[in-house]
Amino acid sequence: MNSLNLVHLYPELMNLYGDKGNIIALSRRCAWRGIDLKIHEISLGDSLPKDMDIAFIGGGQDREQLRVYRDLEKKGDALKAMIADGLIVLAICGGYQLLGRRFVTYQGEEIQGLGILDIETVGGDSRLIGNVVADIRLGGEKMALVGFENHSGQTTLGQKAKPLGSVRLGFGNNGQDGSEGARQDNVFGTYLHGSLLPKNPVFADYLIQSALERKYGPGTVLEPLNDTMEMAAHAAAVERIEQLHRRRWVPGWFKR
Ligand code: GLN
Repeated sequence: MNSLNLVHLYPELMNLYGDKGNIIALSRRCAWRGIDLKIHEISLGDSLPKDMDIAFIGGGQDREQLRVYRDLEKKGDALKAMIADGLIVLAICGGYQLLGRRFVTYQGEEIQGLGILDIETVGGDSRLIGNVVADIRLGGEKMALVGFENHSGQTTLGQKAKPLGSVRLGFGNNGQDGSEGARQDNVFGTYLHGSLLPKNPVFADYLIQSALERKYGPGTVLEPLNDTMEMAAHAAAVERIEQLHRRRWVPGWFKR
């Protein structure tokens, strides 16, 4: 039986708008295919387990982020070594911001960030809130990601980080340049909560497939699943967001 190990970073502190649903989606999609996905929950003061295949960190408010960062810094070298060795990482919103090389909260507190992603985030006094459709390319395939964003941080990408997708509807990284999230080698960051992976099963499978190929070699085939429900949820989310935009019932920038 194939097996994978996933480290879930700070599950109780970094878990907004259903982020834990991403772990459930990965876990179920693996189980349905007979892949044993072991979840290792790691929090403040714990050390990172070895031989991980996937790491996940969800979103959190500025206060939690500052607390988590003081601990994450100590794990930074170990995490970077694992990433250099091919660990697949998915980071959402607050977690995504902490992987960058600078994060300033809207109250002006500044942290360096781990510098794993070449991104910089500065908190503004408006919040970017609403549903998002972003067009992405995964393994040459074009598809849409759907999700929900709620952040004050505005992120800009440096040279090394490529946008994960381009915003069709919604704000994305900063509401200005049309980019959503970032990808740097095997590290994926995004502003999409909501949960992301249950509604975007193709992305969930891409992460599982990448982790399996790294562990068991290229050519590992992922058994297809019946995704009728998941794709219907995906299509309904796209349709709902498009409808709101057609009727112009779309959120603007929310002042605090
Ligand atoms: N605190 C961050 C912001 O508002 C992240 C919020 C989140 O993870 N949703 O930008």
